[in-house]
Parts: sequence; structure tokens; C-alpha cells
Amino acid sequence: MDDRLFRTAMGKFATGVTVITTEIGGTVHGMTANAFVSVSLDPKLVLVSIGEKANMNQLIKESGNFAISVLNDKQEDMSAYFAGQIKEERNIDFGRFNGMPVIKDALVNMTCNVHNAVIAGDHTLYIGEVTDLMVQDGEPLAFFNGKYKKII
Ligand code: FAD
Ligand code: NAD
Repeated sequence: MDDRLFRTAMGKFATGVTVITTEIGGTVHGMTANAFVSVSLDPKLVLVSIGEKANMNQLIKESGNFAISVLNDKQEDMSAYFAGQIKEERNIDFGRFNGMPVIKDALVNMTCNVHNAVIAGDHTLYIGEVTDLMVQDGEPLAFFNGKYKKII
């Protein structure tokens, strides 16, 4: 099957957009991800799917924890930046939540410990046990057909 056809089909599934963050020895790393799923209520588990070539993959393996920030409709630029689509290096003013770096003003910030990691083809599925979360008002940034959308 053609890769482009697969991506076009997957792009028909409208999602929100998150930035995954982790920290090792005081160095923070962020990466945009829309492969995010709520998995279990008891215990509270979520899943993110990270490409094997992404720097984030090795970093989460080492740190054993990560944070997820669900972006709001004014944070398209953050999504593009943490997807490596904006070339100039920026000095990002990360927020802190439950001891982890997060994206400020996001709709949700949550912190997770790695509960399980499953290699699935060219990605690793990180199932995270949610250790804390906070919710803020706002509208979501959506991703559909390979483009950013606003819900309203
Ligand atoms: P890098 O390319 O190393 O980093 C991304 C950018 O963030 C770089 O410009 C880097 O300099 C900057 N950066 C990182 N940390 C900091 C910091 N502390 N301070 C300043 N700058 C920093 N890929 C997946 O594997 N799974 C997904 O679910 C997924 N969903 C995506 C959804 C969307 C809407 C988009 C646009 C892309 C998605 N991607 C996904 C692709 C992924 O975001 C990119 O391939 C990403 O560049 C790979 O991550 P990396 O860890 O190698 O990041
Ligand atoms: P696109 O048309 O590549 O993405 C549409 C949909 O295809 C995505 O929402 C995702 O569900 C799926 N997809 C895309 N690349 C994938 C991959 N490597 N593995 C698994 N599923 C994938 O949209 P775009 O705007 O061209 O994306 C920008 C960049 O971000 C591309 O390089 C794309 O590969 C990457 N991306 C990766 C993932 C992922 O790894 N899960 C998800 C979204 C975007």
C-alpha cells in the first residue's frame, strides 16, 4: 500500500494536537504529537506513539517519564516549532507542573510515568500512568487533512 494513501486516510481522522515534553539532567526536550489516546480510567492511563527516529524516543526511554500539553487554538506556532518545521532555534519559556516542563496556557497539562512501552513497527507506543493533571479554559487546536483547523 502507498504511504501517501495511508497518510491521507489517517489525516481524515480529526485530532487535537499535543506537545510531549521530557527532561534529563535539566535539559528539556519537546515534540509535537497527535497520536495521543486516552486508554484506561482505573488506573489512569494514556498512550502516545513516538517515531523510532525521533529524538524524543530515546529521551523518554532514559527519563522514564513525560508530560503532555494539549494545545489551544492560539498555539499553532508551538505545534509547528516542536515538529521541527520552524528552523530558527527559540528560547522557550516552559511552565512547570508537578516537577515537569510543560507548555504554558495549554488546555491540559498532565504528567506521566512510563507504565509500559511497546515497539509497534517504526514507532514505540508509550503507555503513561497519569500522575497529575490540570485543565484550563480555551478552544482546541485541531489537525485534519494535514492542516490545522479551529473547531469554531
Ligand atoms: P526534534 O526535531 O529534535 O525537535 C523538534 C523541534 O523542537 C526542534 O526545532 C528543536 O530544536 C525544538 N526543541 C525541542 N526541545 C526544545 C527546547 N527545550 N528548547 C527549544 N527548542 C526545542 N511524530 C510522532 O512520532 N508521533 C506523533 O504523534 C506525531 N504527531 C505529529 C502531529 C503533527 C500535527 C505534526 C506537525 C507532527 C507530528 N509528528 C509526530 C512529527 C514530529 O513532531 C516531528 O517529526 C519531530 O520533529 C520529531 O521529534 P524529535 O524528538 O526528533 O524532535
Ligand atoms: P500528514 O498528511 O503526513 O499526516 C496525516 C496523518 O497521517 C497524521 O495525522 C497521522 O495520523 C498519519 N501519519 C503521518 N505520518 C505518519 C508516520 N510517520 N507514522 C504514522 N502515521 C503517520 O500530515 P503532515 O502535515 O504532512 O505531517 C507533518 C509531518 O509530521 C510529516 O513528516 C508526518 O510524517 C509527521 N507526522 C507524524 C505522525 C506520527 O508519526 N504518528 C503524525 C502526524 C504527523
